[in-house]
Amino acid sequence: MAGTLILGTGLAGYNVARELRKHDTSTPLTLITQDDGEYYTKPMLSNALTQGKTAESLVQQSAQDMARELDADIRARTTVASLDTRARKLCLESGESLEFDSLVLAVGASPIEFSYEGDGAGDIMTVNSLADYARFRRTLEGVDRVALIGPGLIGCEFANDISGSGRQVEVIGPDAYPLGRLVPEAAGRALQRGLEQSGITFHLETVVTRVDREGDGYCLHLKNGDRIRAGAVLSAIGLRPRTALAEAAGLEVNRGIVVDRHLITSAEGIHALGDCAEVEGQVLPYVMPIMQAAPALGRTLAGEPTAVSYPAMPVRVKTPSHPVVVSPVSPDARGQWSVEEVGEGVKALFHDEQGKLLGFALTGREATREHQALTRQLPSIL
Ligand SMILES: Cc1cc2nc3c(=O)[nH]c(=O)nc-3n(C[C@H](O)[C@H](O)[C@H](O)COP(=O)(O)OP(=O)(O)OC[C@H]3O[C@@H](n4cnc5c(N)ncnc54)[C@H](O)[C@@H]3O)c2cc1C
Repeated sequence: MAGTLILGTGLAGYNVARELRKHDTSTPLTLITQDDGEYYTKPMLSNALTQGKTAESLVQQSAQDMARELDADIRARTTVASLDTRARKLCLESGESLEFDSLVLAVGASPIEFSYEGDGAGDIMTVNSLADYARFRRTLEGVDRVALIGPGLIGCEFANDISGSGRQVEVIGPDAYPLGRLVPEAAGRALQRGLEQSGITFHLETVVTRVDREGDGYCLHLKNGDRIRAGAVLSAIGLRPRTALAEAAGLEVNRGIVVDRHLITSAEGIHALGDCAEVEGQVLPYVMPIMQAAPALGRTLAGEPTAVSYPAMPVRVKTPSHPVVVSPVSPDARGQWSVEEVGEGVKALFHDEQGKLLGFALTGREATREHQALTRQLPSIL
């Protein structure tokens, strides 16, 4: 019994399974995951603390419920070690192998890890799964000051959430301002002010060089000579698509697993979507691209080849102290930003040389209200 195999039960894996089942209720379907296979909404990980949520309360459906809903076999706590594209089989770490007619790689992305000097470096946490969140929540018990490495999108969300839970947060990073890779300076500074007003401290244009254990906590040494003491250290310096399995199997890999608009990799019958995939040159590690890709791939797997389209998909940054909505501009786009102060925030628009809107960064309650009207003016991504 071969059928369709989906590797990964994150938002990408489960949503493509649901879409497949809308059109095809008979093909045998197996999902494999190295975690517990519970269905949850990953973006909740960076605003769950303030809401007092535990890892258990973030679970929306158990693996058993998902297996029933999808009429699928779900192999949880199962790690795939290799992929044989010719024999069309996945080899598990246990030594077992599973054959497939169609395979979907939905293996996500891993947090980028950096090796620092010092005996505390190994204790630095990252949060990219329910299990990570459970550990993070346990570690924060009794801790009143947290050092957070990385002032990007996920770092700012965690900073706001940890601060909202009543703890002091020290954010460290080499950028001149938060969200430095996504928004123009005025927008980043407006977010920084909003977060500072809620008690968060930024240490920018510097990096951590060493993390030592000290008493019950840690001492972080910064390149600018400062020292920060904290009871816990969280790193949020970015995610990297998980491409090792695909690469070892000889599939084309660039920044992500390379797929065309039908989400087909360089091997026939093997597809990829979600954080691991590079769709026509675009690596977009967000929920909305998955919600566009899953219905298209569900149809394709059911025998009706369907290309994915990406409309403009702005990202809402979950920083309630100073909300932000950003539609990032491609690094090679030609044009310029115009910036206007609106209320306590900023409305920054990026127009090309012909005056066409290509992207925006809206910060603060008043400016973010405009995001839907502006999104309608943006060109599609794919
Ligand atoms: C803290 C945080 C906050 C976020 N907030 C937002 C937000 O507000 N808005 C937004 O749009 N996006 C947000 N994102 C991004 C969004 O959550 C992701 O784009 C999305 O969840 C990725 O889903 P995925 O299914 O591709 O990957 P994942 O959820 O990472 O799933 C990967 C799956 O593959 C499995 N797997 C991997 N390798 C193997 C293997 N070798 N063997 C077996 N199983 C394997 C894993 O067990 C897992 O089931 C956030 C991300 C994080 C981490």
